[in-house]
Amino acid sequence: MVKERPAAAGGIPVREQKIFYSHQCIEQDDIDAVTAVLRSDYLTCGPAIEEAEKKLCRITGAKYAVLCSSGTAALHMACMAAGVGEGDEIITTPITFAASANCALYCSARPVFADIDPETYQLDPKEAEKKITDRTKAIIPVDFGGQAADLDAFREMAHRHGLVLIEDASHSIGTSYKGKMVGSVADMTVFSFHPVKTICGGEGGAVLTDDAELARKLLLFRTHGITRDPAQMSNTPHGPWYYEQIALAPNYRITDMQAALISSQLGKLERFGNRKKELTKRYDEAFAALSQLFVQKETEGSDTVRHLYLLRIRPETLSIGRKELYEALAAENIMCNVHYVPVYLFPYYAELGYRPGLCPQAEKLYEEMLTIPMYASMSDQDAEDVIRAVTRIVSWYAV
Ligand SMILES: *Cc1c(COP(=O)(O)O)cnc(C)c1O
Repeated sequence: MVKERPAAAGGIPVREQKIFYSHQCIEQDDIDAVTAVLRSDYLTCGPAIEEAEKKLCRITGAKYAVLCSSGTAALHMACMAAGVGEGDEIITTPITFAASANCALYCSARPVFADIDPETYQLDPKEAEKKITDRTKAIIPVDFGGQAADLDAFREMAHRHGLVLIEDASHSIGTSYKGKMVGSVADMTVFSFHPVKTICGGEGGAVLTDDAELARKLLLFRTHGITRDPAQMSNTPHGPWYYEQIALAPNYRITDMQAALISSQLGKLERFGNRKKELTKRYDEAFAALSQLFVQKETEGSDTVRHLYLLRIRPETLSIGRKELYEALAAENIMCNVHYVPVYLFPYYAELGYRPGLCPQAEKLYEEMLTIPMYASMSDQDAEDVIRAVTRIVSWYAV
């Protein structure tokens, strides 16, 4: 086979138009749903919020859903509802967005990082278990890239040690685990509706749970710790206007415009999910044929709607590293990303005493991977361009 010259080595780029690693898919009915709210009486605290919450429950099978302003807010609310406080610890993965760990810091607790499985890239339950102490309050596995973490193992572990299981499912809406939709498995499940995620709200998040008491607390922590429910008040209501602040929390409410967009998008979850599954299959087949690459292994029991498609290089088979691969793809007009810098390597965490070497598998993965384009509105031609670009680059630089 004649090798194709990559753009980085003087060839013609596989495409003229840039493609990015993710992009929202907004259609006319989404726009109509948002503008209808703008013409209505309620821009916040209105009926669109409850409608989206009901939809989330219907789709996932969870009993309660509390919509809020972001996935980050959802993680904070979940930690507060779990009772995470000063002196407590939570256990999470370093291969995640910083918010998965920051939520502990917001509660004056300490994030403890456990290493990942080198093939699925998910938080390794055995490593997590080693980090449990009598201060551990919660485990926060992340469904990294969209595939479910090893949820059975974490559920069993949480139960055995009396911990709260908070699943950061910011990547995995639409994924099911052993026949159950993500959202109905952990004590609390967190979604994000940031535009790069499968379902877009502009901004937005949610916490799902089956536990009525947790749901009550989540509602309280969404809005200042204020309640209008007389049953939760200490004083006799002064009148119909009366509400009471019974805890301290930020304003984490979402607008009805965002909620309406989320509802509209949730109606497309199956279509978006199926499209992403097609793209994943096409990628998996193409990249499994390239010995210079490692294809992420599926967690047992996960029927995955991918959020991130991760390409991992086998460094010993290439004369270039991940950075050069990233740049070579950019020269082909394929704009990638890297998910993630291990959280504890950030300067803020270094200040708190975290040091390199803590999670060797995570640090190795960080050196070897990048995220290639994957989103529901990608065309077949887009996917073929990505495959052709990756193939020509790794073949050209193969050793
Ligand atoms: C996106 C994301 C979040 C935060 O969500 P926002 O809605 O952006 O606040 C948290 N955890 C993970 C793993 C994410 O990818």
